[in-house]
Amino acid sequence: MFAQAAACLRNEHQRLTELDSIGGDGDHGTTMLRAAEQMEDWTDTNTQSLTESLKAAGWRVLGVDGGASSGLLGTFFAGMGDVVLAGDAMNCNDLAQSLQAGLRAVSRQTKARGGDKTMMDALIPAVDAVSAAAGAGKSIPEALEDAALAAKLGADSTRDLVARYGRARSLGERTRGHPDAGATSIALIFRGFREGLEKGSVSNG
Ligand code: ADP
Ligand code: MG
Repeated sequence: MFAQAAACLRNEHQRLTELDSIGGDGDHGTTMLRAAEQMEDWTDTNTQSLTESLKAAGWRVLGVDGGASSGLLGTFFAGMGDVVLAGDAMNCNDLAQSLQAGLRAVSRQTKARGGDKTMMDALIPAVDAVSAAAGAGKSIPEALEDAALAAKLGADSTRDLVARYGRARSLGERTRGHPDAGATSIALIFRGFREGLEKGSVSNG
């Protein structure tokens, strides 16, 4: 899941930079490329428990030299490790708890909430979608399908908003008409999670 999320960021990094050039300083694609590198390296070497691995992934992304986004994304992944799992496998409810813990950690780092034209506009609906899916007794692939769609819709919804946080804030009305760069990255990450799980289950038989 992490490897495919990294691949999705990698494939779209030019567009991410374009979006950040409109609403910010144009470094978002480069920062996400560096984050992707860390996510790929980590997937090569992780041998710890699932929660320790998530924390390690988070710390790697937190260590990326970049803007606000790597700090927030790293906090999200590390926060996902703040859950106690019964074993080393996750069911859909565990995944929902883990994503919620990640979202809580990010929410402590920023005051931005839904509607502020930031990554939160994709992250909140994606996490909510997994919680709703878990509550409805859905499987993890079904939950991630819902989350990928919710994140994409959330990112698309930022097109009509005016930025209230981050560098884009000072540009005000000029940010309207283009989706937020960070929200677009979150949508790519959840698409990657869904695709990666699919690939993994095919290769694992
Ligand atoms: P920087 O803004 O420091 O140059 P990036 O360009 O890598 O960092 O990332 C910009 C993205 O980060 C924005 O599109 C937005 O989604 C997200 N972001 C920036 N600041 C904040 C914040 N205070 N709260 C939530 N998200 C933020
Ligand atoms: Mg930037």
